[in-house]
Amino acid sequence: MNQTKYVYDLNEGDASLKPLLGGKGANLAEMNRIGVPVPDAFTVTTQACVDTMNNNSEWPEGLREQVEAGLARLEERTGKTLGSVENPLLVSIRSGAVFSMPGMMDTILNLGISDETVGQVAKLADGNERFAWDCYRRFVQMYGEVVEGIEPHVFEDALTEAKEAKGVDNDTDLDAEDLKALTQKFKDLANEALGGHWTTDPKEQLMRAINAVFKSWLNPRAEVYRKSQGISRNLGTAVNVQQMVFGNRGETSATGVCFSRNPSTGEKELYGEFLTNAQGEDVVAGIRTPRDLAEMEAELPEAFHELLATMDKLELHNKDMQDMEFTIEDRKLYMLQTRNGKRTAAAAVKTAVDMVSEGLITKEEALLRINPSDLDALLHDAIDPHETATAIVKGLPASPGAAVGTLSFTADDAAERGKAGEKVILVRYETTPDDIHGVMVAQGVLTAHGGMTSHAAVVARGMGITCVAGAPGIKIDPKAETVTIGGQEYGKGDTLTLNGSTGEVFSGALALVPPKLDENFQQVGEWADAVRRLGVRANAENFEDASKARELGAEGIGLARTEHMFMAADRLPAVRKMILAENEEQRAAALAEILPMQQADFEGIFTAMKGLPVTVRLLDPPLHEFLPNIVDQSVLVKELELTGASEDVLAKERETLAQVKRLHEQNPMLGTRGCRLAMLYPSIPDMQARAIVKAALAVQEREGETVGVEIMIPLVAIAKELEVQRDIVVKAVEEELAAAGKSLDYTVGTMIEIPRAALTANEIAEHADFFSFGTNDLTQTGIGISRDDAEAGFLGHYVEDEVIAKNPFESIDQEGVGQLVQIGVEKGRSTKAELKTGVCGEHGGDPDSIEFFHKVGLNYVSCSPFRVPIARLAAARATLQHG
Ligand code: ADP
Ligand code: MG
Ligand code: MG
Repeated sequence: MNQTKYVYDLNEGDASLKPLLGGKGANLAEMNRIGVPVPDAFTVTTQACVDTMNNNSEWPEGLREQVEAGLARLEERTGKTLGSVENPLLVSIRSGAVFSMPGMMDTILNLGISDETVGQVAKLADGNERFAWDCYRRFVQMYGEVVEGIEPHVFEDALTEAKEAKGVDNDTDLDAEDLKALTQKFKDLANEALGGHWTTDPKEQLMRAINAVFKSWLNPRAEVYRKSQGISRNLGTAVNVQQMVFGNRGETSATGVCFSRNPSTGEKELYGEFLTNAQGEDVVAGIRTPRDLAEMEAELPEAFHELLATMDKLELHNKDMQDMEFTIEDRKLYMLQTRNGKRTAAAAVKTAVDMVSEGLITKEEALLRINPSDLDALLHDAIDPHETATAIVKGLPASPGAAVGTLSFTADDAAERGKAGEKVILVRYETTPDDIHGVMVAQGVLTAHGGMTSHAAVVARGMGITCVAGAPGIKIDPKAETVTIGGQEYGKGDTLTLNGSTGEVFSGALALVPPKLDENFQQVGEWADAVRRLGVRANAENFEDASKARELGAEGIGLARTEHMFMAADRLPAVRKMILAENEEQRAAALAEILPMQQADFEGIFTAMKGLPVTVRLLDPPLHEFLPNIVDQSVLVKELELTGASEDVLAKERETLAQVKRLHEQNPMLGTRGCRLAMLYPSIPDMQARAIVKAALAVQEREGETVGVEIMIPLVAIAKELEVQRDIVVKAVEEELAAAGKSLDYTVGTMIEIPRAALTANEIAEHADFFSFGTNDLTQTGIGISRDDAEAGFLGHYVEDEVIAKNPFESIDQEGVGQLVQIGVEKGRSTKAELKTGVCGEHGGDPDSIEFFHKVGLNYVSCSPFRVPIARLAAARATLQHG
C-alpha cells in the first residue's frame, strides 16, 4: 500500500525538507546531521496538519499508526519507553511552521510524566525529587492549558497561592514537597475543570497533544501574525516530538537563548540570556528575569565554550545570523532550536555588509538578504539630540527607534485606537503573543517585565516597532489603567516618549528627528544601484522633499503635484479670484498673480534636482476643492443672515456659496478634474507651462544648470484631450523661450490613470513623449472602488476575509489593474518604440509592485522620498530574481 509518509525520524531529515518538516524540524535534523548535539526526535509533517484541516479535523488514514511506529523507533533508539515505570521516556511536543512564528503556537513539555513515573524520574536524576515534581506540575499546567483548554489563571492562581503561603517570590524557592502538593492541586483543578475527564494514559496524551498543536495553527494570535507577515494559512504546521533534556535539574543545569550576532545592532558579539534550574519558556516568557549569557562562563565553563563554538559552527553552516535555543542538563549542552534570526533593519544591513567582507556571502546574496520593506524602520525617527529631558525610567532597549504616544493598557484598546489613527504606546506588565494585534498598530511598547528575547521584543523588532522591555520598578494597574513610574502616575490620556535604542522612557512628547543613514546603508544602496534596471525617482513638490529624495538616491522627480501650491493659505485668495472670475480677462488677471508663486515653487524643486529630470503634473483636482465646503458655507451664510451681518459681507459669502453650488459635483473623482478642467479653462495650463519655463530658465541662469523638464497632463482618457493640451503647453513654452531668447530641453507626456487611456495607449502615444502610470487612480477607476471611502468600508472587510489578497491601493492588483499597465506599455510602445514609461503613486514604493513593474518593463518607478532606498533595493532584487 502506498501511503503518504507523515512521520520522519530525526536522522531522516535535513534542511531541504523545510516545507514538510517545518523550520524547527528541518533545522533540528540538519543540526543533528552536522554533529551538533540535539535530543533525539521525530517530526510529524505539515502535510499531516493540512490533511487534518481538510478532513474536518479528523486525522488522515495511517497517521496514528505512523506516529505509534515513530514513537516505537524513538523508544528503541533512546532505550526508554513512554509510560514505563523502570525507564520512562519524557518528550516535548513542539509546533514548527515553515516560516518561524515565535510564540504564536503551543508547546508541551515533559509529556510521559505521571503518578506512575514521577518517582522513577526522580530516581534517575540522582534522586532529585524536587526536579521530578517540578516537571510534573509544569506538565499538568501546559497539557491542561494547551490540550484541554483550561484557563491559564486556574494554574497561575494556585501557583501564586503556593508561593504566598510559603512567603517566597520565585518558584525556584518551592521545594519538593511544595511542588508535589502543587501538582496534586493542579490535577484536582484540572479534573474539576474537566468534570473528571483528565486523561492519564501517556500515549493518548501524546496523540491529543499532537492534535492540539495542529489546532494551534488556527488560533487567533497565529492568524493575526500570519496575516501581518503574509504567511498563507494553507501551509500548516509540523509537530516535533522530542526527547526531553532538563535545564531544571539544579544549578548545574540551565536553559537559554542566544544569537550569533546582536540582532539589534548587527554587531558580532555575545548576545543571549539564560537561567539556571529552569525549563522551557522560563527565559522567554519573562517570568523570572533572565541573566546575561556572559555570566554563564564562570558557572558552567565547558558548556559555555561549547556553546560559543556551536554558535559559530551554525552561523557558518547557515551563512546567516542564528537565533538559537539551548538547554544544559547537568553540564552537558544540547541545542534545541536554530533559525535565521529576526533582526532590526539596522542589524540586517550591517550583518549583510559584514558577511560580504567576511567572505561568507556575495553582494548579490547580501541584497537578497535584506527585506526592502524593513528599511523603512531605518528611516524612522529618533529623539532630537537637543532634547535635554531626563528619563523617568530606563528599561531594556528591546527594539530601536523612538515613539511618542498616549498610553493604552490593553491590546484591544491599542488596536482600536491605533487603527483609528491615534498614536498610542501600549503599556503591559509583559506582552504575550496574544497582544500581537495591539503591538502591531502601536507606536511603541513598554513592558514592566521580560528580557531582550521576550516575545514582545522579538515581535516588535521584526515589525520595526519601538519597544522598551522590562522597565524596572514601574507599577501597572490594568484595572485603573494607570502606570506609576518614579512615584508619578500616568493614565490613558497621558503621553510618553520611548527610546527603543537606549531603553529610556520620558514623560511627555519629545521632539523627534529623522534618522541618519550610516555607511552600511549607503553601501547596500550602491550595490543595489549597480544591479538594478529600473530607475528610481521620487514624488516631491518642494525644495526640502526634493533634496531629501536626492540625498536618499532619487534619480529625478517622477511626480511634482501642483495643487499643493494652490492650497497654501497665502495663495488661496488669488486662487479663489481665479475660480470666481466672471470672464477670461478676470481669470487671466488672477492667474497672473498666481504665476510668480508657482514659479518660485518650481525654482525650489529645480534647484534641488538640477541635472536630473523633473516631471511636473499640471493641475489635477476639481476646482471646488479650493473653495469652502458646501455645508460649511451654507451654515455660514445662515448665521450671517441671522446675526444681521452687513450687506457687503453677506453678498460676498452668498456669491461664494452660489459658486460652490455651481461647481459642486456628485462624483468629483469622476468629474471635472485633471485635463478636463484644463479643457474648460485653457488659461490654467497655459499659466502653469509658462511658470515652469520661467523657473527652469531662472535656475539655469543662477545655477548654471537646470533640470530636464517633463510636463505631464493628468487624467487623459481620449487622445484628443492630450492633443489639445499638448498644443496649449507647447505654444506657451515656445513663446516664453522665444521671448527669453533661450532654449530648453523639455518633453510633454501624460498620466495613464483611466482604463480607456491604457486601452487606447497606441493613439495617445502619438501625442506623448512619455507615460506615467498613475496607479492610484488606475486602481480606483480600474476596480471601480473609491480610494477615499473604500478602505474604511468594504475593502477593509475584503482584505480581512481574504476576498482580495491585499489592499490594492498598497500593492498593485497584478492580475487586474496590472494588466492595464501592461497593455498601456505594449500599446504605447507599438506607436513609439522608445516611449519612456514610469509609475507614480503609492505602488512605486511597494516592493511587490516594484517587482511587477520590473517584469512589465517600465523605465522607472517614483515614490515618496523616504521610500526611495526601499525602491532601489526592491528594484535590484527584482533584477536578481528575474533578470
Ligand atoms: P517556540 O516555537 O514557541 O519557541 P519551542 O518548541 O521552541 O516553542 O519550545 C519552547 C521551549 O521549550 C524551548 O525554548 C525549550 O527551552 C523548551 N523545550 C522544547 N523541547 C524541549 C526538549 N526536548 N527538552 C528540553 N526543553 C525543551
Ligand atoms: Mg523556540
Ligand atoms: Mg490621478
